[in-house]
Amino acid sequence: MKVNLISDTVTKPSQGMLDAMFSAQVGDDVFKEDPSVNSLESELATLFEMEAALFFPSGTMTNQTAIKIHTQPGDQLICDHYSHVYNYEGGGVSFNSAVSCRLIEGNRGRITASQVEESVNPPDFYHSPKTRLVCLENSTNKGGGAVYDFKEIIDIREICDTHNLAFHLDGARLWNALEVTDEKPKDYGKVFDTISLCLSKGLGCPVGSVLLGSQVHINNALRIRKIFGGGMRQAGYLAAAGSFAIKHHRKDLNEDHRKAKEIESVLLTCNYVETVEPVSTNIIIFSLISANSELDFISNLNQKGIDLITLGKRKIRIVTHRDYSQEQHNYVLTTLAKMN
Ligand SMILES: *Cc1c(COP(=O)(O)O)cnc(C)c1O
Repeated sequence: MKVNLISDTVTKPSQGMLDAMFSAQVGDDVFKEDPSVNSLESELATLFEMEAALFFPSGTMTNQTAIKIHTQPGDQLICDHYSHVYNYEGGGVSFNSAVSCRLIEGNRGRITASQVEESVNPPDFYHSPKTRLVCLENSTNKGGGAVYDFKEIIDIREICDTHNLAFHLDGARLWNALEVTDEKPKDYGKVFDTISLCLSKGLGCPVGSVLLGSQVHINNALRIRKIFGGGMRQAGYLAAAGSFAIKHHRKDLNEDHRKAKEIESVLLTCNYVETVEPVSTNIIIFSLISANSELDFISNLNQKGIDLITLGKRKIRIVTHRDYSQEQHNYVLTTLAKMN
């Protein structure tokens, strides 16, 4: 059996999604004439009760665009030291926006309002960079799918208001967080200036991310997307996949979460495992006891047909997703237990 658990980006479109893509109405989106893109954008703006939305090829581009519209060269943004914008966007914050990152050591990728407050540079002290933006990630990636307590997010918003800072959410996996908490999309829409959402993670689309914000922010984002080379033509074939996923795939995330929880339970009984980070969504991060090398562990599983990745320092990551079947899941649970 072959099982790919390296990421939730490995999924292929479902039959229903392919049908929706094949029958999509399309036009030239650079002229704003693609009805499927326009409709995806307005569906998401309505769902989050934000003024406007813009479709992008990737979540890196939505984040980078948001950082560009909120900052000037020389400014500083505040984020967790695990954050995607800092670690996994190729240094784009400095390349695209010429800003620096003030890194906070949070809890599994989550930062607190008091940590943010301590990290704001005094505006009149012209020796230090001007703090302009706070970026959060929810749920976290390198933090193992951890989810914010919404009260903390509201407290961070207050700090942003006091210090005149913009507030951006990297919501690549906000869909997962929404399934396991009480908040609604509009609650997030009220608190953040901009939100980036990925359609190509747990929702299972082949391509696509969306940036949400005020009309003014999205007008600015349209220009930046052009500069980044992200304007697409008959992108409606991709947007139709997004609209389909928002309607039909969101609830399925709970299956990914259940499977992740079951993997966590098995790992907790394995004598080769040192710790398992508490699982709340679809990412499992665990560490091996010191006698084990993670490369041996990974190649051992590879030989049994199971692919996963190491994060270094004896840490292993597993990500469940919609193409990970119950049959594969049973095989993974037995295999992990038998490695004892
Ligand atoms: C995947 C991801 C992104 C965007 O990545 P792309 O591959 O560029 O779409 C952004 N933030 C987080 C936390 C992610 O996991």
